[in-house]
Amino acid sequence: MSTSQVTCKCGALYERTEFNAAPRAADRFSCTVCDYTLEVFTGTSAPTYRLISGPLRD
Ligand SMILES: [Zn+2]
Repeated sequence: MSTSQVTCKCGALYERTEFNAAPRAADRFSCTVCDYTLEVFTGTSAPTYRLISGPLRD
């Protein structure tokens, strides 16, 4: 299992945790704020994303 942080182009910060050989519930992950596709899942890895903080606003 490995954890990293991913920032979307809209500024939303996600914690990404990858589990090896876990069943995938979806083919991709899209930002919950702007709907931009952050990752298309391939192979057997099944990362999960957790929103840490939303986009910064003026
Ligand atoms: Zn976004």
